[in-house]
Amino acid sequence: MPEGRRPPGRKPGSGPRHDAKDNRRRRDSRPEGRRRDDGPSVEPPPPPTARRVDEPGLPTATVLVKAKRARPFFGRHPWVLDTAIERVEGTPADGDVVDLATHEGRFIARGIWNASSRLRVRLYAFDSGVPLDAPFWRSRIQTAVALRRALGLDDRAGAARLINSEGDDLSGLIVDRYGDHLAVQLTSLAMAGRLDAICDALEEAVKPAGILLRGADRGLSKLEGLHLPDRVIRGTAPDGPVFIREGNLSWGVDLTEGQKTGFYLDQRENRRAAASLARDRRVLDLFCYSGGFAVTCAVTGSAKSVLAVDGSAKATALARANADFNGAANVTVETADAFTRIDSLAASAEKFGMVILDPPKFARSRGAIDEALRAYHRINRVAVDLLEPGGILVTCSCSGSVSRDDFLEMLSAVAQRSGRQIAMLECRGAAPDHPVSASCLEGEYLKCVIARVA
Ligand code: SAH
Repeated sequence: MPEGRRPPGRKPGSGPRHDAKDNRRRRDSRPEGRRRDDGPSVEPPPPPTARRVDEPGLPTATVLVKAKRARPFFGRHPWVLDTAIERVEGTPADGDVVDLATHEGRFIARGIWNASSRLRVRLYAFDSGVPLDAPFWRSRIQTAVALRRALGLDDRAGAARLINSEGDDLSGLIVDRYGDHLAVQLTSLAMAGRLDAICDALEEAVKPAGILLRGADRGLSKLEGLHLPDRVIRGTAPDGPVFIREGNLSWGVDLTEGQKTGFYLDQRENRRAAASLARDRRVLDLFCYSGGFAVTCAVTGSAKSVLAVDGSAKATALARANADFNGAANVTVETADAFTRIDSLAASAEKFGMVILDPPKFARSRGAIDEALRAYHRINRVAVDLLEPGGILVTCSCSGSVSRDDFLEMLSAVAQRSGRQIAMLECRGAAPDHPVSASCLEGEYLKCVIARVA
């Protein structure tokens, strides 16, 4: 099914929207890797990720890259695709530490092997003297937690992304803190095998009441041969929604059933930026999920009124609850398909002072980019029609494979087609607790343009 349009019968609200990392095409038809200790049994091999890795963190094999393919890894890019590999010296099991070397055998980096993924090696250290053992993971986690502290995001009543995969040199590991609870998302077998060491380090660094594993069996984790159901891995689960504070607002977050790990933390600053322009405006928040933009505009931004729409009934129930909880009586929440609803608003010549578009990921692969751009064009074109002169467009894309340039060109085409001037006030990204590694720009996915439409 092509992505990027409203496919008939597409189930809104299904699955996570922003996968912070690994925004590129990967297909893997290889069978699951067998563990090295699998005997000549007739039983099917157990899921590879069940293996717990307690090791000194030293390499069991050396992976040599093809000539002229080593440069990205000297530049600290952490993903070694199968196509870059010349040969392997040794027989590493999935999850083993391996060294990466040039075709002549010169050390480049140390990483973790997974034959079940096209992304054969994930690199974690670029110094041959460093074992990938428990103290190594602890130190990486402490560094990540210290960054959030420096960003002022250590308020126990609030929420923050503590670990952002490649952005924190921990490829395949995402950890979000919601109050006293942590939600862990795994997209690499490498990290899954070290879950114990990771949880030990997290407990030491932030002393959570509980650690939950979320979304591990969805999306990219499948490409890694991961089979980890959602569960409580340390401490206790919250007995209901967790309430977190952001400025003057409180959000109820469903840690066990919500989208992503429960809340779109990446949009924190963008919600505030939008709200700062919402005063006395009639606001439309399409794809509202739990009401992040809608409630911030209503309460912090003193909007005149807000219409919030999402296709998922679970999402709109959360949005309604969050609006009520924050005393936002002027927020109307509707469960509807956004594409149908925006067309009906246009057909009845409704006008808004602000339209917010934060759709799910339209392009999941490079091949789907054109289709995605057409969908962005279509919905932005209608949004511009709905805006009164001088209205504000807040338009987002979380498709990593759609570049910032492509997204801006789409907006440029919308300006041309609509005959309206679109003056961009801000081109924003994800909040700073979602750092992007300059060595792995694939980690940059969120675009949020705030523009005045004449
Ligand atoms: N702006 C939100 C996050 C939006 S995530 C926040 O700040 O929290 C994208 C949302 O789009 C999801 O809630 C999903 O349920 C919804 N969605 C996906 N397809 C949809 C469709 N066709 N119509 C309406 N909503 C849809």
